[in-house]
Amino acid sequence: MGTLEKFAEAMDELVAMDPSQLADPETVLELQRRRDQYDAVVTRAVAAFDASGEWRASRSRSAGDWLAWKTNMAKATAARQVQLGRAVREMPVAEEAWLAGEIGSCHVAQLARAAKNRTAEAFTRDEKLLVDDAKTLSYQGFYRVMKYWLQHADPDGAEDQAQSKRDRRGFDFSRTFDDMFVGDLTLDPITGTIVSNELNRLERQLFQSDWAEAKERLGREPGVWDLARTPRQRRADALMEMAIRSRTAPANGRRPEPLFTILVGYETFAGPICELANRVVVTPGTLVPWLDQAWVERVVFESRSRVTDVGVTQRLFGGGTRRAVEVRDQQCFHDTCEEPAESCQIDHIDPYGAGGPTTVANGQVACGFHNRDRQRRT
Ligand SMILES: [Zn+2]
Repeated sequence: MGTLEKFAEAMDELVAMDPSQLADPETVLELQRRRDQYDAVVTRAVAAFDASGEWRASRSRSAGDWLAWKTNMAKATAARQVQLGRAVREMPVAEEAWLAGEIGSCHVAQLARAAKNRTAEAFTRDEKLLVDDAKTLSYQGFYRVMKYWLQHADPDGAEDQAQSKRDRRGFDFSRTFDDMFVGDLTLDPITGTIVSNELNRLERQLFQSDWAEAKERLGREPGVWDLARTPRQRRADALMEMAIRSRTAPANGRRPEPLFTILVGYETFAGPICELANRVVVTPGTLVPWLDQAWVERVVFESRSRVTDVGVTQRLFGGGTRRAVEVRDQQCFHDTCEEPAESCQIDHIDPYGAGGPTTVANGQVACGFHNRDRQRRT
């Protein structure tokens, strides 16, 4: 029996099984790993088919077009598969890890993007390191590493890309039928962070007042469905509130708080760090227009756990201790959770009630969910 026949037979058996027979953690992980391997096999086969030129007999423009025609998949999806197959031929370490089911197609696509043109040589040098990161880091962590790597390998390209992001910013906002207003907003990472920080802050205030109103009205703890406004409506009202405050702010009003935070690190301990507090990686050039402004909070790391310089310590959450924990941990302590520190609380590792001190060493970032989860279990 040929290999594919054996595979088809095994697959038919799996298809006939009840999903609950495959539902234990080991089996779920094994299935995922096999799927990654299978993706690698299919993608490599597609690339070999592409190279063979057999698709030309049908007068298709490309192997991707042929594939889309025969399988009814989207042309763009088919074209991406062909490209990924071609790219993986130039990435032997990534190819091996993919075939072993240690990384998935998302990782390979991300690596392929980094292996292009100007960075091809640096990629060949660093491929093993990057693939190791793909195997071990969370996807978000890996994504950040790739961003930093690209900045390092091709600083000009990274700055060009950052500039093109800034150039794409725009806000269409106009009156339309029935005198309604419709908008469509695109912002670059820094502009977007500034706007979203303030919008979130106002939304939280409106949420609290909606919550208090519902509690008063019902005489019990409300659920989110009891609130007078939907999240969309609250965001719209928060935007209007921004307009009102802007209109009524004194012209010489002081800007009391930083608009955003930059984390700056030393390459010696954790690789370069240049990102906003919401964990968006930015290029050094992006920051230049902001460097002389008083409303940037700058946090410099001396080592992974030690913050040497917090630009404006008194503004957030009652003090530098809290801020130091936030910038050290950056996200919720729980392994499965990537909630950024800005929307988290600071938790005592040794509970305060049991004598745990309120120090940086005894603090950790915890999102609302994991903070409550921990308290329930202690
Ligand atoms: Zn969490």
